[in-house]
Amino acid sequence: MRTEKRGRLTFAGGVHPPESKELTRDTAITVGPAPKEVAIMLSQHIGAVCEPLVRKANAVQAGQKIGDSDAFVSAPVHSPVDGKVKEIALRSHAVLGRSLAIVIEAFAHSQARWPKFELNDDFDENNYSPGQICEAVRQAGIVGMGGAGFPTRVKIEPNPRLPKDTLIINGCECEPYITSDYRIMLQWTDRIVAGIKLARRASGCHEVFVAIEDNKPEAIEAMKTALQSRPGGDRIKVVAVKTKYPQGGERQLIKAVLARNVPTGGIPPAIGVVVLNVATVAAIAEAVVIGTPLTHRVVTVTGEAIASPGNYYVPIGISVEELIEFCGGVTEKSAKVVMGGPMMGIAIADLKTPITKTTGAITVLTRHQIGRAKFKRQQTSCIRCGRCLQVCPENLNPTKIAHAVKYNLLDVAESYYLNACIECGCCSYVCPANIEVTGYIKTGKIHLARQRKKMPE
Ligand code: SF4
Ligand code: SF4
Repeated sequence: MRTEKRGRLTFAGGVHPPESKELTRDTAITVGPAPKEVAIMLSQHIGAVCEPLVRKANAVQAGQKIGDSDAFVSAPVHSPVDGKVKEIALRSHAVLGRSLAIVIEAFAHSQARWPKFELNDDFDENNYSPGQICEAVRQAGIVGMGGAGFPTRVKIEPNPRLPKDTLIINGCECEPYITSDYRIMLQWTDRIVAGIKLARRASGCHEVFVAIEDNKPEAIEAMKTALQSRPGGDRIKVVAVKTKYPQGGERQLIKAVLARNVPTGGIPPAIGVVVLNVATVAAIAEAVVIGTPLTHRVVTVTGEAIASPGNYYVPIGISVEELIEFCGGVTEKSAKVVMGGPMMGIAIADLKTPITKTTGAITVLTRHQIGRAKFKRQQTSCIRCGRCLQVCPENLNPTKIAHAVKYNLLDVAESYYLNACIECGCCSYVCPANIEVTGYIKTGKIHLARQRKKMPE
């Protein structure tokens, strides 16, 4: 067993944007709208795209698997409603532009459901074998719900080439505005505790940490209390990491908690670590204990331009438009709809874009906020101030990468570790010349992936 040196509960670089979480942090999770229609993307995870298992006009039931792939790195998709397949067609996708989706017309009786989950006092994760847990997670289509979308089975399954020793549960939620994970930690502690124990059993990790930023003392207390009240919970440590963006980034979190460095271009299992988001472990508990596939998730709908901001439990596949309407619509101040938060989120032009397994928030920004975030101010030439280098948590040279991308020198950008960028947005946030440094880098990554044929056109 390795003798662990602990981290300093923070990382180098990063920024402190206004948190703006007060809009929704005190609003309990409530059931969202019953959708008229859902569009289930066949690609909403890292890995192989699913093949449809249904055809136009087929009737489907809530929880039915409707798409899957034989590939190891993939995850099936399920219908969240009882309904009828209207078509299998292209729909707007926040990351891919347009992508194939199974569109289902929901039957009128198919109301949004509240997930029932009760953890018996005699719950014992040892009643499930690691293989059973991994298979249940695979069949439920669980992927990283914090935004990465990596299939969870692949993460937790034992791999003799990459033995894992430490599991970190990510409750940081460092992105401004978003509070869905925070509310899950306050309201769904049973699910999280069960999910952690199941993930620990499946992965074989002997050490477990629940890492939460120190601006969420109520969540820290709730998790400590929940763990102490369960047998063996005292072997799971809750750590308060320092509040700084992007503390929730996997690499930054591992550095803060364990003082280990994930090699550039490497993944956490390369150093024996698995990181799972709190919503993901809650989904693991639902899948294993009550056999529920991942068909719904909690989404924060927020921003000063939303009439009724809040945290809603919604079916995956519902459109952003239907969700915003349910929240009373937008005010006349609205200027930009972002899937995710203002730092890492993606602005969408088509409100018919559906929610996916990785959508933690919809943020509607006002013109004033966009100005404050510098996204639309006049861009000037780089003044070589070096601020972007100081804040880059990956120790990159953002200005050099962006410059190479601007002049289509992708090989040069790659030699500056273009693909090591975690797209946190810190460089754009601090740039006094208002250069969309992250935008250039994201574009460069897409073009490079297409050049190498790793991504569809
Ligand atoms: S280069 Fe990438 S990782 Fe570095 S600050 Fe910019 S967006 Fe973040
Ligand atoms: S922060 Fe902006 S102006 Fe300063 S070096 Fe980076 S890109 Fe140039």
